[in-house]
Amino acid sequence: MTFRLNEDQLLIQETARDVAQEKIAPLAQGYDERSEFPWQSVKYLQELGFMAMMVDEDWGGSGLDTLSYSLAMEEVSKACASTGVTMSVNNSLYAYPVETFGTNDQKEKFLRPVISEKLGAFALSEPDAGSDPASMKTYAKKEGDEWVLNGSKMWITNGGAASYYVVFAVTDKEKGHHGISAFIVEKGDPGFEIGPPEKKLGIRASSTTPLSFDNCRIPIDRLLGSEGEGFKIAMKTLDGGRIGIASQALGIGKAALESAIKYSKERVAFGRQIGKFQGIQWMIANAAVELDAARELIWRAAMLKDAGKRYVKEAAMAKLYASEVAVRAADMCVQVHGGAGYSNDFPAQRYWRDSKITAIYEGTSEILRLVIGREVLGKF
Ligand SMILES: Cc1cc2nc3c(=O)[nH]c(=O)nc-3n(C[C@H](O)[C@H](O)[C@H](O)COP(=O)(O)OP(=O)(O)OC[C@H]3O[C@@H](n4cnc5c(N)ncnc54)[C@H](O)[C@@H]3O)c2cc1C
Repeated sequence: MTFRLNEDQLLIQETARDVAQEKIAPLAQGYDERSEFPWQSVKYLQELGFMAMMVDEDWGGSGLDTLSYSLAMEEVSKACASTGVTMSVNNSLYAYPVETFGTNDQKEKFLRPVISEKLGAFALSEPDAGSDPASMKTYAKKEGDEWVLNGSKMWITNGGAASYYVVFAVTDKEKGHHGISAFIVEKGDPGFEIGPPEKKLGIRASSTTPLSFDNCRIPIDRLLGSEGEGFKIAMKTLDGGRIGIASQALGIGKAALESAIKYSKERVAFGRQIGKFQGIQWMIANAAVELDAARELIWRAAMLKDAGKRYVKEAAMAKLYASEVAVRAADMCVQVHGGAGYSNDFPAQRYWRDSKITAIYEGTSEILRLVIGREVLGKF
């Protein structure tokens, strides 16, 4: 497998880097401090077609490959991890399942608008069902030509900003995970409420809310895929989503590394720039090695997906490793900055706060180790 980028991918990388550094990065700290949704940054990405990069051109998307998406995610997240997750959810967790499992009518109504105007969300987790989504309680019942949803969802990214939501609910309690179905719910549907934003450690500018369904009535044709296919849709969607989150982690880690390098050349202690001390050099060297290795894992997973091959294990490995590396790189960045790393005057604290979530959402590190373990051991 070769890891050379083609002309198109290089152009995407350069375009993403330019918009991220020139337009998104200057806004990141302010959005974070105000916990304000980064609409302006999202608009820049919508203008470039980056909010639905892999959607077919027939539906108004950019028709790009997963590797291009990963490159753009890395650059955007390096500038602003909150914008990164917003972009990732719209691309991988909303547009992907609607394009892959939706009918043409659903795509016309619910996919086209999220290319350059509106946002989508993915609602799987519940207050008592995160790592084990098959134990979800949200229930959907068919009544005449409507589905009636009852229950609640938790931690939904883009919750307060989205217009459309892919929502998972039990339709047959007897069938375990084969009794879960997926639906498209629209903001304003009767009985559908969006809760207040969560106050978070990091990615503070992203919107994370609970959702509730109180006899929420939606038309029968809002079922996404077939009845009972919801769990499969969720798992397939998350496999691709993990490449996006791994790329987000890589972007945060790279930002932390570059920030540490810059500071280590400026800060003087004992009469020398601290970057001249071996103790600092080794910390920086470790992060540089780990981030390069993470990038290889991410690109491998993306290329397998683009080649139409199975990539469950590789996406899990990429997300597991990249997220843990990002956490270590961000921690190193704070340490290299000393007291300054603890202050809002430098972005090191933001990288540190933002990095942690990448090891939690779309499969915690523990769950990913289970996925990888299952794949590596096989049936025995
Ligand atoms: C900011 C944010 C945004 C999010 N966005 C979304 C979103 O858009 N859509 C969505 O559906 N969800 C979203 N989530 C939810 C996220 O995916 C879950 O938080 C995550 O899957 C973990 O679930 P949990 O929080 O219920 O933790 P739990 O499942 O309660 O896990 C608690 C701990 O137990 C460990 N654990 C659980 N089971 C096992 C096991 N079998 N073996 C070993 N260890 C185990 C976990 O790894 C973890 O360390 C988001 C969460 C956050 C914080």
